[in-house]
Amino acid sequence: MSISAQRANQIAAALSAARARSWRLILFGFVTAYCDNPRCAAREIEIHVKEQHNEPVAPDLCCPACSGPLALHHIETREERHAAGEAEARSNVAAQLYSRRHPGEGIPLGTFLNVSLESLIARVLTDEGRA
Ligand SMILES: [Zn+2]
Repeated sequence: MSISAQRANQIAAALSAARARSWRLILFGFVTAYCDNPRCAAREIEIHVKEQHNEPVAPDLCCPACSGPLALHHIETREERHAAGEAEARSNVAAQLYSRRHPGEGIPLGTFLNVSLESLIARVLTDEGRA
């Protein structure tokens, strides 16, 4: 099997898995792939996907710069991307709160990993002296 065919199969499987993770009937999401052609200047390519009914994304993705077959990095549904963005925002705020209370100190990992909205609200209220 050619590299192009192997990569298309891998992308098709990842697209199917993403569709299965989503509650939507069609895939809204993001395909992140990369070009590993050493003579090509392009590296990471992100495709914002909105499938149409009965027209799934073609899995044989090619680099827009050199037309070589793209290698899959990952696929996220729209909901997964949104949740990751919200988690990153909470982590950033938690780290900033810690830095404000402990200027010049390193930030412990537990301060900004897996921060729930409830714990972040509690930290903000504590920081403002309202809890
Ligand atoms: Zn390329």
